[in-house]
Amino acid sequence: MNKGALFVISGPSGTGKGTVCTELINRGDVFLSVSATTRDKRAGETEGVTYYYTDKARFEEMIAGGEMLEWANYNGNYYGTPKAAVEKMLAEGRNVILEIEPQGALAVKAKMPEAVLIFIIPPSIEVLKNRLVDRGRENDEEIEQRLAAAIWEMEQAEKYNYIIVNDVLADCVDEISNVMAGVVDMRNKVYALLEEAKERK
Ligand code: 5GP
Repeated sequence: MNKGALFVISGPSGTGKGTVCTELINRGDVFLSVSATTRDKRAGETEGVTYYYTDKARFEEMIAGGEMLEWANYNGNYYGTPKAAVEKMLAEGRNVILEIEPQGALAVKAKMPEAVLIFIIPPSIEVLKNRLVDRGRENDEEIEQRLAAAIWEMEQAEKYNYIIVNDVLADCVDEISNVMAGVVDMRNKVYALLEEAKERK
């Protein structure tokens, strides 16, 4: 059985990448890795589904113990991808999405060059700010911090394999879904060619 494909999705806070990822998961064929974080749990979030919520000491233990595929500090909190779960899903042939910020995404690319990096951008900064304000999850100070972080994040976009605009949600999901299907298809074709080449030996 072929290993699953690894996709990494990033984009500034407010681009709607969470919603895009949920839609992609609902369509099937791809599984989401659940990250660990030290940030507080918000209303509507579920332990073990949205994140594994942990304190700083435990998170630092996980880093020291080599349990993280990648980790980053974002707005004063740790966020990281537990390695074992991702490796298990890939070994089982499942395609996996990591929804993570660019420091982590680029760390994954360095460790696993086969990972496919997708960056989601908003149609405009005005739309980005309005989405952050409208969802009402963050206070004014946090919104300003997230908008400031968005500049550095967008500067990393050209290091990604694909850049996709999230203007109309369904179109963005279709585009990413097509990219993913194309990647999986091409990988399978290459594996089949390699099999054939080995058999000829
Ligand atoms: P939020 O607090 O809005 O849930 O997430 C803040 C940022 O952290 C988002 O850009 C999100 O993609 C990123 N993030 C979530 N989980 C991880 C992770 O495991 N690793 C890294 N590097 N970033 C993450």
